[in-house]
Amino acid sequence: MPIPIILKGKLETNCRMSRWIGFDMDECMGSLMPLYPFLTELPRLVLSVNPEFDINQLYITIQQRIIESEIAERTWLLRPALRTLLDHIYLLYTTKNIDGVFVFSNNSSPEIVSFTCFLCDGYMWHRNKDNTKPQIFKFGAYLHSPFRQNYGEKSLREINNAFKYTGLEIPDPKNIIFFDDQIHILSYEIPNYVHVKPYLHYTNHGRIITELKSLIEFLTPSIYREFTLICASAYLRDTMARTSYKIEKQNMTEAEDDKVKWITALNTWLGLYNPKIGYDIAAARTKKARQVSRGIHTR
Ligand SMILES: [Mg+2]
Repeated sequence: MPIPIILKGKLETNCRMSRWIGFDMDECMGSLMPLYPFLTELPRLVLSVNPEFDINQLYITIQQRIIESEIAERTWLLRPALRTLLDHIYLLYTTKNIDGVFVFSNNSSPEIVSFTCFLCDGYMWHRNKDNTKPQIFKFGAYLHSPFRQNYGEKSLREINNAFKYTGLEIPDPKNIIFFDDQIHILSYEIPNYVHVKPYLHYTNHGRIITELKSLIEFLTPSIYREFTLICASAYLRDTMARTSYKIEKQNMTEAEDDKVKWITALNTWLGLYNPKIGYDIAAARTKKARQVSRGIHTR
């Protein structure tokens, strides 16, 4: 059942200040690390062989392939609840109800963080057939971003620094909603900190290679060899034990429960909470409880 975003009612237009949605990345937006070999190692290797190579075109091609595979659920790098939220974010952004989205991550790879922003923007463009390609994700902070002063700290001070650095107006703390699977200092500093369950569903490299196979046509002949080398080392990583992750997609019950919670948090923040959503949560929980008692849902 689709979860509605509620846009009826009045937003606080008389005191309209910039309003932002923020995300932690790892285990919150999804599990993006399997893209690492293709976003960091492949470009580095390719540039070492051919400094003239168009890396941006490589990123665009990877973006398109991954969007297709995520929509078809052949990969599950992005959490299903986030994909649902992105549909609403696009609407909120294009109706000027939010100023943008940012990622504040402690991941040390700038490539993964910026690609995640690019992937989410691309997902929204694709879903809405928007050829104007608006940049809705305004910035992505990684562990060593130049504006960060304290190692790994996620606080209002650090987030304000990021806004200042990117030339954006610093928002009022109540006008930020932040999703994170962990608790940071920020959770005590803003009223809308959404602590979510960690997303521990891992897409193995083999699946990603299958999706990116067509890159070979695009890359051939200039970096065919480099691509196969990266694939070979990526395959090896799948043999490494990842005991805390499940190499499978999130089951439907869990995904639906997750979506209801995320959308409810968003609606509550927008000040337009609808009791109908509360009913949906109760219904989803009841359905889950029934499945557990029948032994369908094993977790
Ligand atoms: Mg996290």
